[in-house]
Amino acid sequence: MPGLSSSTKAAHVKTMPTTTLPMQHYLKALHDKYRPLEEGAVATYIPELAKADPDAFGICIVTADGYTYAVGESDTPFTMQSVSKPAVYAAALADRGRENVLRKVGVEPSGEAFNSISLDPQSGAPLNPMINAGAIATAGLVAGDTAAEKWQRIEEIMSAFFGHSIVVDEAVHRSESETGFRNRAIAWMLKSFGIIDGDPMPVLENYFRQCAIRVTCRDLACMAATLANGGVHPVTGKRAVPAEDVQAVLSIMATCGMYDYAGSWLYEVGLPAKSGVSGGLLAVLPGRFGIAIFSPRLDENGNSTRGIAVCREISREFGLHVFGLAPAPSRVLSRIHTALDAPSRRLRSPLTSARLREVASGIKCLSLQGELAFDGAEFVVRSLMRLASDADSFILDMHRVTYLAYNAARLLHEASGALFAQGKVLVFSRIRGRATVEDALRSSLPDGEKGFLSFEDNDLAIEWCENRLIDHEAVSGSRTHIDSLAPFPLFAGMTQQCLEQLRKRMLAADYPAGAIIVSAGNEQDDRLFFIRDGEVSVVLTLADGAHQRVATLSSGMSFGEMVMLGQAARSAHVHADTAVSTWTLSSRILDEIAIDHPEIKIAILRNLSLDLAQKLRQANQLIAVLAA
Ligand code: GLU
Repeated sequence: MPGLSSSTKAAHVKTMPTTTLPMQHYLKALHDKYRPLEEGAVATYIPELAKADPDAFGICIVTADGYTYAVGESDTPFTMQSVSKPAVYAAALADRGRENVLRKVGVEPSGEAFNSISLDPQSGAPLNPMINAGAIATAGLVAGDTAAEKWQRIEEIMSAFFGHSIVVDEAVHRSESETGFRNRAIAWMLKSFGIIDGDPMPVLENYFRQCAIRVTCRDLACMAATLANGGVHPVTGKRAVPAEDVQAVLSIMATCGMYDYAGSWLYEVGLPAKSGVSGGLLAVLPGRFGIAIFSPRLDENGNSTRGIAVCREISREFGLHVFGLAPAPSRVLSRIHTALDAPSRRLRSPLTSARLREVASGIKCLSLQGELAFDGAEFVVRSLMRLASDADSFILDMHRVTYLAYNAARLLHEASGALFAQGKVLVFSRIRGRATVEDALRSSLPDGEKGFLSFEDNDLAIEWCENRLIDHEAVSGSRTHIDSLAPFPLFAGMTQQCLEQLRKRMLAADYPAGAIIVSAGNEQDDRLFFIRDGEVSVVLTLADGAHQRVATLSSGMSFGEMVMLGQAARSAHVHADTAVSTWTLSSRILDEIAIDHPEIKIAILRNLSLDLAQKLRQANQLIAVLAA
């Protein structure tokens, strides 16, 4: 038997503790509700199928991020039958390309029975790949020169969909092969029209075998979730179907997946789906989850009676119809705040800060969320234009954007160009590691544009915009060389005499750009630093190892004061961003000075408390903005 595998391994599905989850309770209640539904009959035209337990009933959901909820007989094996058809169609599309497949198999609903011998009178092409004629033709299209190679390909795509190797139910396969005269006739018809090349019988045997692949409800839910997840199995992370073919497969399922009930199904349930005569049914909510039901009693259309009832109820109760109301475009804009509400952590001299505050509302940060396609982008662009008259710069925070369409990205670049023409800028923040967003922004750049400005976080973006304002609006005073102690806020209100006392006990310390001035954890160093020239950054190492800038300081500012408050170890690193000149004062020496001049230490501590109070106010204000 070509390519038969002998083992099935359970997919390593992330299953949560089942008793406590509300979702699990919901499915259990649904299962209890529909278990008494005993309408319909088990298929008997393939003799072996008649042996199925009519009462078997399983429901399984796998989310696009890989969580599984299963109730009832979710691990009972049954054969795939027609549910195999979308999977093999996906393989054919991937192997032959859309154009070649379309030449051999159409995409029109047939309105005739699944096993009808209906082909396009001109071309001989079956109407779609979900009726038997189309599915048999499709089995002949997958990659491979021989039937054995083609079977290997079918086996490969099924394993990718389920996340484990497959087995064929030999009894069911034999049973169908021995009785499938109509399918045999269809295969010869396809041969006569040139839709199948070579001997059609091995192709038909592969088709019978794909129908006899043994699956569980859980497997089918994984297959549905893989389609929901853009073709990647959400648990194994392996791609089963190229992303560009998923939409084609789902479209066929939406229009032709449910036999002669396809129209009513789309009307009422509104999810791409496929059912089979053994009682399996899977449905897909693109981007969200896959669901599968196993219950062998079939209605007059050949669909699982309980399967239809369960899907109808879930879709209605949760509003899952794919044509259901999409969120309003305004929802893509979750918040707007300005640099006045939340300035950067860059500390500046009091004069610069005051001047900056007067113009900081011109820096506007727009937090975007969700999917940015046509109308979402339109809404953002309209908001940018509306706000432009009193804006200097815009930051688009992309952190919560889950999808950015190519054309939406293009609209954003165009808006950026229009703003630039008015002397304003648009920058992005937090796109790193968001491949779809980054790709869309890069690939949609207008000709001649080299790139776009983007920052790791909002703080850096706001600082950049503040610097721009400082340069443009001549808000100056941030870069001066300091040669006396008077400008340092920590010494405010001290007499000249005291300052001289202090100055005498200070040491000069200069650092090249990039030097680490203070390392977090150091307990030996008890110095306070006074920046005379240059800039330093105070950086924390977060729990995940990432670095977070806490502040950037420049001339006229000081750091390391916490040692005076009894903190032995340094809490953060301090880096020299540029060449830096400092004066340093050891805390121990300050204590010595304080023996004769306690007023010096009192003044320093008072200034330090004023500074801490100001920082606390700023932190509270930021929390208020972020929590809004
Ligand atoms: N193997 C079955 C046939 O070709 C599949 C039918 C179905 O599930 O629709 O008749």
